[in-house]
Amino acid sequence: KPVIVAIDGPSGTGKSSTSKAVAAQLGLSYLDTGAQYRAITWWMVTNGIDIEDPSAIAAVAGKPEIVSGTEPGNPTITVDGTDVAGPIRTQEVTSKVSAVSAVPEVRARITELQRSLAKSAEIGIVVEGRDIGTTVLPDADLKIFLTASPEARAARRSGELKGADVNATREALIKRDAADSSRKTSPLAKADDAVEVDTTELTLSQVIECVVTLVEE
Ligand code: C5P
Repeated sequence: KPVIVAIDGPSGTGKSSTSKAVAAQLGLSYLDTGAQYRAITWWMVTNGIDIEDPSAIAAVAGKPEIVSGTEPGNPTITVDGTDVAGPIRTQEVTSKVSAVSAVPEVRARITELQRSLAKSAEIGIVVEGRDIGTTVLPDADLKIFLTASPEARAARRSGELKGADVNATREALIKRDAADSSRKTSPLAKADDAVEVDTTELTLSQVIECVVTLVEE
């Protein structure tokens, strides 16, 4: 039976790096669900949809075709055949993704994609996101909830953004987590049966080792 690992938590906890490395080490597929929400947000922005208007977003939520590659060494993402791996990481998309992903029609659409990808994984899959253990794959074999102090998360994010202002990054990150945690449909939350790992004082290799051990147990 394929093994399903759900890794949730706020941004800057090392979720993506950990999930990719764990999948690669164990020969599993990998799915970055945040990239899917970013991709649909990119499409909304590119097509001039009013991000402030949930009904406008809902009306077109079914339009873009989002395809995710699940190879941990090369996690591709396309929208209607266009490679959007770069454009989905811009500050514009990052600042708008919480509003788009709060729309129930968007979540229904993306959740369906996620479940079908998880189902088709032959050996197994590591799926990272915000609501994987609680909503998307409640029957996952292992659920991990990664946390870290706001300072550690902001420092990691600014490091990734190469010299971005740590305070501004921290504010934006706290705002996005608050929006993700307070939305009505599938908010960012720890599943009751998830293992919580506080990564504040851990190196990336220590977090990876910890999760690999939990999968193998
Ligand atoms: O993980 P990443 O920071 O790329 O996620 C971008 C955004 O996508 C999150 O801030 C959240 O609004 C949304 N998201 C979500 N549910 C998921 C994964 C991401 O709502 N499972």
